[in-house]
Amino acid sequence: MADTVFTRKPISLATPEAVVSSPGEAGTSFTKKPKMGGGKSKKKDIPSGLWCKCPKCKEMVFDKELDDNLKTCPKCQHHFPIGARERIHSLVETCSFEEMDADMRSLDALQFTGVASYVSKLESYQKSTGMKDAVITGIGSIMHHRLALAVMDFSFLGGSMGSVVGEKITRLIEAATNRGLPLILISSSGGARMYEGMLSLMQMAKTSAALAYHARARLPYISVLTHPTMAGVMASYATLGDLIIAEPGALIGFAGARVIKDTTQADLPPGFQTAEFLLDRGLIDAIVPRKEMKARLVFYLDAFLANRRA
Ligand SMILES: [Zn+2]
Repeated sequence: MADTVFTRKPISLATPEAVVSSPGEAGTSFTKKPKMGGGKSKKKDIPSGLWCKCPKCKEMVFDKELDDNLKTCPKCQHHFPIGARERIHSLVETCSFEEMDADMRSLDALQFTGVASYVSKLESYQKSTGMKDAVITGIGSIMHHRLALAVMDFSFLGGSMGSVVGEKITRLIEAATNRGLPLILISSSGGARMYEGMLSLMQMAKTSAALAYHARARLPYISVLTHPTMAGVMASYATLGDLIIAEPGALIGFAGARVIKDTTQADLPPGFQTAEFLLDRGLIDAIVPRKEMKARLVFYLDAFLANRRA
């Protein structure tokens, strides 16, 4: 009798000791993670806004380190998504960028309502991203080149192309044509915006027509495809560049892999729809890591313009 009471005590003493070590303060907790057992507490242990896990190499990366590295993993060079403003900042010379049509916004011509209304979706994305729509356009300088630049942002409704994206890009292309400037469009998009139906699809023709006039003026257009560039954007201005370059590992295609697989009833080759796969088959001209992008764009523009003068 006395024996059993005695053995119980150490057990009840042992448990509080284990609890003391577990409510982890910041850094110490991840080394002791296996003791926790359940998967629920994993996220709580990592202080948000300081670290993130690289989806490719699974290493923990400091957010600050990621920012300093143009949002590429310092360990494996995986390219994380980057916002439009941040990308513009990484490319153009300080104070040289004059934004165009900054306040243009969609009027919801179809009065679309799904799970939520299109208007409420737009409002929430405008609040969360600080942008009016999914593209920023303007005239700026990259080194000694004055040029027209558009950068899409995937974080605004999946970078979808509605009438505002189409109109802003068209106006930018027209400004480039009128002012005799080279053009760079950096795409990141899931495709046309379903909330604007046919009006979204019409942007494909409109942007392509404007590009034809730009090409007729013998001005260079470089299209940069970033992860992901799909569907209506891929099927219009993104693939009309004199030069088409992509970031490493970017998903690039028209229909999604699952749709193609279901339709063709065939197994897709490994690496299907990646930048590397498309380079190998000649659909794109080069793969350029983000950190080399500025220097390479200057190199290409130098070559284009020297050729044009000749
Ligand atoms: Zn990594």
